Amino acid sequence: MMRKPVTLLLFVAGLAGLLSFTGKTPPGDPGRPKSVLATIVVDAGHGGPARGAKGLISYEADVALAISLKLGQRIQEVFPDTRVVYTRTSDTVFGVNVDARTANRMRAELANEVKGDLFLSIHCNATPQKAGGWYAKRVVGHTTKTVTVGKGAKKKKKTVRVPIYENYWVKNERHGTETYIWAADRSGVKSTFIKPEESAEFTEDSGTAYVAPDLNSPEARIRAQLYEKKFFGKSLTLGNMVEEEFAKAGRLSGGVKQRNWEQIWVLQATGMPSILVETGFITNEEEEKYLNSEQGQAEIVENIVTALKRYKEALEGAPARAEITTGTTHVDSTVVTPDTSGKQ
Ligand SMILES: [Zn+2]
Repeated sequence: MMRKPVTLLLFVAGLAGLLSFTGKTPPGDPGRPKSVLATIVVDAGHGGPARGAKGLISYEADVALAISLKLGQRIQEVFPDTRVVYTRTSDTVFGVNVDARTANRMRAELANEVKGDLFLSIHCNATPQKAGGWYAKRVVGHTTKTVTVGKGAKKKKKTVRVPIYENYWVKNERHGTETYIWAADRSGVKSTFIKPEESAEFTEDSGTAYVAPDLNSPEARIRAQLYEKKFFGKSLTLGNMVEEEFAKAGRLSGGVKQRNWEQIWVLQATGMPSILVETGFITNEEEEKYLNSEQGQAEIVENIVTALKRYKEALEGAPARAEITTGTTHVDSTVVTPDTSGKQ
């Protein structure tokens, strides 16, 4: 494992503080294989100096934290044997005011240190335009105006045609969810980071002395191969389930997107299945209200938890009781899973 000494120091200090508010350690049961949800790292995006995207009434860092804390609590209720580890439970990551990139390295180190089985990163999306909307001008007609042209003796009056403008409101309409996973490594192709598409969510910058992680170092290559072989498929499976649950709840789902953005490098740096959930657009007035509401946050949490149930059943097999009652080995998990999406 590669670590910079300074980061390691910060990390150890942070880890000691973090472990004190993680859930209980799962009971040792050598007879059973480890659950795919044994340890879940819940990561509230941004924090500290990185506020994330800005809405009309809130910052992404605060919304992500509120949802993450509720998600961790609900995971603990629904899966009592799961250990939940948070990357932050307050505004700052690890209680230290570090820049976004250092914070991402520390997130990955923590997730690997606690041997997480799943990394769930919670974010809000944003467009580069103003939150809510903006005024724009358009021509609605023309009129004539008399103007004076020329100087001195050559001065004369002239009639010109001029446009009539109208201000109109352009609503920031983009809304809905999407889930990012790290794109699988294409064997033999030199890996490079690609630039994020136009998005205010990933434009924040931090520090100038920083050097981006090298995707072509031997360690990174090994990690990429491991990710492709062991974690890509599971990340995709869970990502699809999360987006399906959002869609069932009536949200507009943008589906699962594979990316190689430096800003989501953390997904690949954690040696475990990992997804980054964009829970909605903070730049859309209605969606920002939803993201900030108790009901909206509870619904988002329930959607993710339902996806986790399906994920567990898909990877570990349907619960034994379902097999007994149906007498079949093929059990559709959507039939046996109780609906707890909050829609009852
Ligand atoms: Zn974000």
